[in-house]
Amino acid sequence: MLNMEIPDPFASFVADKYKNFKGPKYDYIAKEWSMNCGCCDEEIFAGNRKMLTKIRLYHTRNECCGGY
Ligand SMILES: [Zn+2]
Repeated sequence: MLNMEIPDPFASFVADKYKNFKGPKYDYIAKEWSMNCGCCDEEIFAGNRKMLTKIRLYHTRNECCGGY
C-alpha cells in the first residue's frame, strides 16, 4: 500500500467519465479534439470539432471502410 501510486483525482474522474464514451473528446492539454474510429478503433485528432468530423469521414471512407 505504501508504494501505491496516488491517482490524480481529476484525471481519474475524466478517465472514468469517458471510459465508455465513443464520441469526440477535447484534450485540454493538447488543445485538440480526438476520437476513436468506430470501425477500426484508431485514434483521430484534429484542431477543432468540424475538422475532426471531416477527418473521421475521410478516414472511414478511404481507409478502414474502403469507400463503403
Ligand atoms: Zn477506422
